[in-house]
Amino acid sequence: METESPIKEVIEEIKELGGDAVKFCYQCGKCDTLCPWNRVTNFSIRRLIREATFGIPEIDLEDVWRCTTCGRCPRECPRDVKQIDDVVALRRIANLYGVSPTFLKPVRSASVSLTAEGNPLGAEREKRADWAEGLNVKTFTEEMEILYFPCCYVTYDQRLKEISQATAKLLNKAGVPFGILGTKENCCGESIRKTGNEDVFKSMARENIKTFIDNGVKRILVSSPHCYHTFKHEYPELKANFEVVHITEYLLELINAGRLEVSKEYGKKVTYHDPCYLGRHNGIYDDPRTLLKQLPGLELVEMHESRESSLCCGMGGGRIWIDTEMSERFSNLRVKEAVGLGAEVLATACPYCVDALEESRSGLNYEDTIQVKDITEIILEAIT
Ligand code: SF4
Ligand code: SF4
Repeated sequence: METESPIKEVIEEIKELGGDAVKFCYQCGKCDTLCPWNRVTNFSIRRLIREATFGIPEIDLEDVWRCTTCGRCPRECPRDVKQIDDVVALRRIANLYGVSPTFLKPVRSASVSLTAEGNPLGAEREKRADWAEGLNVKTFTEEMEILYFPCCYVTYDQRLKEISQATAKLLNKAGVPFGILGTKENCCGESIRKTGNEDVFKSMARENIKTFIDNGVKRILVSSPHCYHTFKHEYPELKANFEVVHITEYLLELINAGRLEVSKEYGKKVTYHDPCYLGRHNGIYDDPRTLLKQLPGLELVEMHESRESSLCCGMGGGRIWIDTEMSERFSNLRVKEAVGLGAEVLATACPYCVDALEESRSGLNYEDTIQVKDITEIILEAIT
């Protein structure tokens, strides 16, 4: 009787679940030199790829869960090994076999909360539109110009709510007919998918797609590059195509059309941190910078690792839910770099980045040295 070796089965599973490209790796090690983890600890994506090639990855170890899907190594891999697809395939296998080490407990909680309440934060669905109270934000109807889809974090998190609130104020100032779907929205599902949980992702996505179609949505405005990426590149896998626009693109559109005027002096030195999912994954580097340069008096200085080479904040790929030791946070390096440039404001355009950079700013005792701001908050200050 013929029996199949367990290793062969694992190799087949890696292939079936999206990690087939591991076979192209010729172990040059370029990925390890680029990976931000090697700035703070030792981690070898190259070794993980090699183990996957032989069907022997240790899927219960944290290394399988380290990749933040920042996109830096896949851009420069000479063999197009698709490292992000490979690690997500390994995480799918871990999900399939119910492998769940203690450090993944917060990921399990996020998954339970997503299924029960549509958000990963354990917050009540009924409170999803509370951030908009008193801001004259209407429920979306199909005659409106655009649907504003705030991500879960700018909906519920105390600090990050300032981003959705600034966005609503800017849209109202520009007279944009916009609305929200409030309690009818679910998380876009981007991060849970990167942890290998395809079922929860599909359930979030299908419900959102149905809600968008039922409500006549055509154009969606987002604050988070993670929502942007998923709506633009992953929902089409489920046969759903909506026009998606990131707030930095839309604010520029409003300013260029004369619907929004920035005239107030903003006499500060500012540096801009490119979020991985806006920059490397979607090529939006210029709009945020063009926006900042519109502000009279603003001095824009560039960090050494910017645009395609931007340093990840550490929150992608589901890492937003996994504890990272203070000494291993990439965002600490980023804040230190910005401070070293003499910047008064570290600007970015992603709620995950704001969260990570704010934590580092406070952990490093730089509260009186530098501010962390989303671009919407800066533009609002320059208008009011
Ligand atoms: S850069 Fe590509 S080919 Fe080189 S070791 Fe990494 S995955 Fe393999
Ligand atoms: S995608 Fe980024 S975090 Fe993931 S292995 Fe490559 S460089 Fe490291």
